[in-house]
Amino acid sequence: MEAVRIIELTIRQEQILDIVKSNGPITGEQIAERLSLTRATLRPDLAILTMAGFLDARPRVGYFYTGKTGSQVLSEKVKKLTVHHYQSIPVVVNEASSVYDAIVTMFLEDVGTLFVVDSKSSLLGVLSRKDLLRASIGKQDLESIPVSIIMTRMPNITMCTKDDLLIDVAEKLIDKQIDALPVVRNTEEGSGFEVVGRITKTNITKALVDLAKDEVI
Ligand code: ADP
Repeated sequence: MEAVRIIELTIRQEQILDIVKSNGPITGEQIAERLSLTRATLRPDLAILTMAGFLDARPRVGYFYTGKTGSQVLSEKVKKLTVHHYQSIPVVVNEASSVYDAIVTMFLEDVGTLFVVDSKSSLLGVLSRKDLLRASIGKQDLESIPVSIIMTRMPNITMCTKDDLLIDVAEKLIDKQIDALPVVRNTEEGSGFEVVGRITKTNITKALVDLAKDEVI
């Protein structure tokens, strides 16, 4: 049995699929003839079916059915999404910043995760909302505690690069039960990592919405 189609097709597109399924490879002209329509009328439908992955076109041969179900097509699309298209701007604090300053930065920048860097912008650690809350529970003077004392530090940071697949990042967020990953690249000296972006559960949610709207780049 064929899986449910995720992309909704029009009646005419369904008719085209049926024709190609039983007669392919078949030219656009021949499909048009069978539906008593012009080739020009069919062009947008053929383009949609080809882009969506249901049909493939070979020059001088015609259209043929790929045999892919809606969920196969969707899964292939998901596996093409990369961090690069969905990442946000990272918010960083210096290792010498106080817990107090980090809390203020988190509010002002409206983010849930901060990255801690040294004076050369190399990644040293991560601060989450709960890290800062935990440090605030006691009666300590938050202005005198440096973030370097409470952060999760290298090498225990889960990171990604801009070319990684979004689905791999999503798996890491689930496995490690965290909200965000820094997007990094090697520093010029090559020993550390420079933070170039931030990818969060919100970015993944955005990708899901784009997929549903079929607006994937
Ligand atoms: P919260 O603690 O506010 O629920 P997270 O779930 O993101 O937020 O963080 C849980 C813990 O994991 C925190 O101690 C945080 O420092 C750490 N953490 C967050 N992101 C990362 C990451 N990318 N790599 C390693 N540790 C992280």
